[in-house]
Amino acid sequence: MKKNTNPRFIAFIAGLLAAAISTAIIAIASRDVLVSVVNFVAVLCVCFLVFNYLLQEFIYNKIKLIYKSIYRFKTHDANELRALDKYDNDPIETVSNEVLDWMLENRNEIDQLKEQENYRHEFLGNVSHELKTPIQSIQGYIHTLLDGALEDKKVNRLFLTKASNSTDRLIELVEELTSISRLEGDKPPLDIELFDLVKLAEEVMEMVENQAKKKKVVVGFKKQNAKAVLVEGDKAKVRQVLVNLIVNAIKYGKNEGTVLIGFYDMDKSILTEIADNGEGIPEEHLPRLFERFYRTDKGRSRDQGGSGLGLAIVKHIIEAHKQTINVRSTVGIGSTFGFTLKKG
Ligand code: ADP
Repeated sequence: MKKNTNPRFIAFIAGLLAAAISTAIIAIASRDVLVSVVNFVAVLCVCFLVFNYLLQEFIYNKIKLIYKSIYRFKTHDANELRALDKYDNDPIETVSNEVLDWMLENRNEIDQLKEQENYRHEFLGNVSHELKTPIQSIQGYIHTLLDGALEDKKVNRLFLTKASNSTDRLIELVEELTSISRLEGDKPPLDIELFDLVKLAEEVMEMVENQAKKKKVVVGFKKQNAKAVLVEGDKAKVRQVLVNLIVNAIKYGKNEGTVLIGFYDMDKSILTEIADNGEGIPEEHLPRLFERFYRTDKGRSRDQGGSGLGLAIVKHIIEAHKQTINVRSTVGIGSTFGFTLKKG
């Protein structure tokens, strides 16, 4: 049977068969050629019309209806839908193709939904876990104070200070969560401007001065008196990148260590590197370092007040600028985080 069989062709073949059989019987019975010929033509015509009508009415049109239903589900464009009536293609083949496409699309959609569901599940688990630690700590100190420590002048201030530190940590965590959900969700447009990276880095160095002093860490530029380095970017977001990377370098660097900031001209972009001489990061952690809530040493990072969101935020910001971020690290020697920005 030919590939694009249509109802008319099937009706014609069926009519031909019926006409041939009935003519053969009549020819044997009557032995009259004229009667046989008339019978053949009449049976062929009647059968063709009847079969064609039945096929069109009950099968072909119903399939076309299913096809249109599928199409209506996929498109909301009335013009496209009307144009379907004019198509002179084979609806059976089109329906099977459409159903196949539809199944593939649905499977992709289901896979995506499952992935999002897993992500939501994991995210919620991580968030509640992160929030639980400072909340439990605050609760513990308050209960101890209420149980009598409030009157004990040796510990009451200390416990209140610790509870207050945990509240600060809670606020920091919520701010980071807001930041990451904004970066991953609505993706607000960047406020691109031309600015001097050296000046911005100096501002950030001033901001983290106290933190650096506590660990006797020296934060400075690789080349002293670096001259202006102009870049194009969202200044507030780039400031956040510098804060997160420099604070990490101080936090995970060694006591009395150094944090050096360097700028390198890469033709169309500027590469900024923040290097510390801390204990470094084992190689197996490097590929997952920028994932949210990922930590190389959970206990140590939490002790440092870390949420595991800082590097994920940094990556989102740099990728929103369509630029790159990378890390190299050697255990015992230190880590260097580098990111690029469009040259101004
Ligand atoms: P956190 O809030 O825990 O610091 P980040 O996303 O900023 O989260 O960092 C993720 C993890 O990467 C940290 O917990 C730490 O284990 C590791 N890390 C980040 N920066 C450094 C660094 N400069 N030296 C060593 N380890 C680092």
